[in-house]
Amino acid sequence: MALSVEVAELAEIFMWLNEKQATSLKKEKLNAASEEIADIFLYLLRLSDTLGIDLIEATDEKMKKNIEKY
Ligand SMILES: [Mg+2]
Repeated sequence: MALSVEVAELAEIFMWLNEKQATSLKKEKLNAASEEIADIFLYLLRLSDTLGIDLIEATDEKMKKNIEKY
């Protein structure tokens, strides 16, 4: 599935970086991460739309569940 490929592409940018490096990316890597995050968002929107899921509503509901759980 294309979404999982995009997630892997994002993960690859952060592979082998420590926390400090991961949170202070140089411009080229930050731009690459931005593009992959946008790809992921677009595929999520497309999948949600295809399944008739309101992504904002589903996220709100999940955040409520997470707050109760944790
Ligand atoms: Mg990509």
